[in-house]
Amino acid sequence: MYRTHTCGELRSEHIGQAITLAGWVQKTRDLGGMTFVDLRDRYGITQVVFNMDEDSALCEQARKAGREFVLQVTGEVIERSSKNPNMPTGDIEIKATDLVVLNASKTPPFTIENDTDGGEDLRMTYRYLDLRRQEVRDNIMLRHRVGAATRTYLNSQGFLDIETPFLIKSTPEGARDFVVPSRMNEGQFYALPQSPQTFKQLLMVSGFDKYYQITRCFRDEDLRADRQPEFTQIDCEMAFVEQEDILNTFEGLIRHLFQVEKGIDLPKFERMQFDDAMRLYGSDKPDIRFGMPFSELTDLVQGKGFVVFDSVEAIIGINAKGCADYTRKQLDGLTDWVKRPQIGMKGLVYVKCNADGSFKSSVDKFYSQDDLKAWAERFGAQPGDLILVLAGDLHKTRKALGELRLEMGERLGLRDKGTYKCLWVMDFPLLEWDEDTERYHAMHHPFTSPKPEDLDKIDTAPGEVKANAYDMVINGVEVGGGSIRIHDRGLQSRMFDLLGFSKEEAQAQFGFLMGAFEYGAPPHGGIAFGFDRLCSLFGGADSIRDFIAFPKNNSGRDVMLDAPAPVDEAQLKELAIQLR
Ligand code: ASP
Repeated sequence: MYRTHTCGELRSEHIGQAITLAGWVQKTRDLGGMTFVDLRDRYGITQVVFNMDEDSALCEQARKAGREFVLQVTGEVIERSSKNPNMPTGDIEIKATDLVVLNASKTPPFTIENDTDGGEDLRMTYRYLDLRRQEVRDNIMLRHRVGAATRTYLNSQGFLDIETPFLIKSTPEGARDFVVPSRMNEGQFYALPQSPQTFKQLLMVSGFDKYYQITRCFRDEDLRADRQPEFTQIDCEMAFVEQEDILNTFEGLIRHLFQVEKGIDLPKFERMQFDDAMRLYGSDKPDIRFGMPFSELTDLVQGKGFVVFDSVEAIIGINAKGCADYTRKQLDGLTDWVKRPQIGMKGLVYVKCNADGSFKSSVDKFYSQDDLKAWAERFGAQPGDLILVLAGDLHKTRKALGELRLEMGERLGLRDKGTYKCLWVMDFPLLEWDEDTERYHAMHHPFTSPKPEDLDKIDTAPGEVKANAYDMVINGVEVGGGSIRIHDRGLQSRMFDLLGFSKEEAQAQFGFLMGAFEYGAPPHGGIAFGFDRLCSLFGGADSIRDFIAFPKNNSGRDVMLDAPAPVDEAQLKELAIQLR
């Protein structure tokens, strides 16, 4: 037996017992007559003491054990003379009677501590060492617990865990596919799934009315911050359900996860129409931990001689409560902030609602005190508040003001990490007009069902058709999304028409699904959650990378493996692939 206990489990009640531990050397302290070794494993750290007077040979051996050596220590659990209340095992130590070096270690390239001296690249190159650090290990263990709790909940609701293939066929919709050449079929390629979407729908046709899978998805996207080319979804689908059934079931899942992981009983989730989310917060994933909704001023402010306002589509603002004392410098700072290329606005108009009831604005030349009073009323602003206004094209201005709202929320401390506000954003548009390609794209994906009451608009005003599509948003982060699906062949085929597929293209790419719809497809719908994202939310971290054992870096590289990498000439030849 390598060990009788782990390095995290011994307590006062074990005093007097003979035990054996195995683990890694966290650190060694040599105090002349005594040598202390902190032995670490996944469960914790235990202090081992070697006494020169009692066994000098053993003590010498312990002194030689460097950081990260793997040791097996046998000894007796004794009470510590100076207890360490910060360590779960801090009441005891091990008086060693035997020591076996199971393996030596080179000095690690960075310290295996929470506050490590290793930079990101170095830690990723030696990720197996990075994973020994407690905070990284805790994240991976959190991921395990969230996965286990997900399975427990879904299993208890009668869901079946069913695997779907990774080698599938490439389709042009959505993001770019990763492709895999087939040796046996020269010049032909598989694609890795961007999600199991069509398979889970086929499983509904097959009669497995509740499906889930915690599975990898692959998207060859231009990497934005915190995207991974492969990521994990909790993918779910149900048959014979309406939207309401799905919302309830998966609200249940998220509440269960919060209970298990955080001990929090969440109240019923709020719901918001997509249109309202855009109008009030300029985002389809508003952070509702704080208010600060938009007010539109367009009708109030145009025609007063201020060309900037007169020449634009939309003039919208927010009320930053209690910020009227912002200095010139702070206001200039905010103006620069909205002018950054990421935000892209031309300027920022402000109105200070002074304590004495007067107003001071950056547009005093054009607007009287009475005008500004009317603005303030629109916002419900009180003396002491600061109104911030952006103007421009509606879509862009909403987006920019949404960012400014988040920034102000952050500055005002309204986005507390320990507060969780969950929201369903509902009734998304079915389609989205794409200026570049001059055609409609599916806002969610081409299998999303239009709302039955909007079906008659599908030919006349396709942009106005709403879908039974929903996103779950927690603290401004989209954690999941799904929809009720089309299950009728005719409608699915009309949808492909709308999206600009020819009959032949639709048949070649999705014939299997439309074919299945001809054999008794039940009404169905589902949802998928970003599992990595959920874990980072529970872990209170911003990056999903911290919750993946072996993540890729921001350029999509695995720096440990040094992948992607070229392959052998011979391999290419076998695959009949010629490089440019
Ligand atoms: N397959 C969808 C996605 O990956 C989710 C869903 O509609 O269930 O976004």
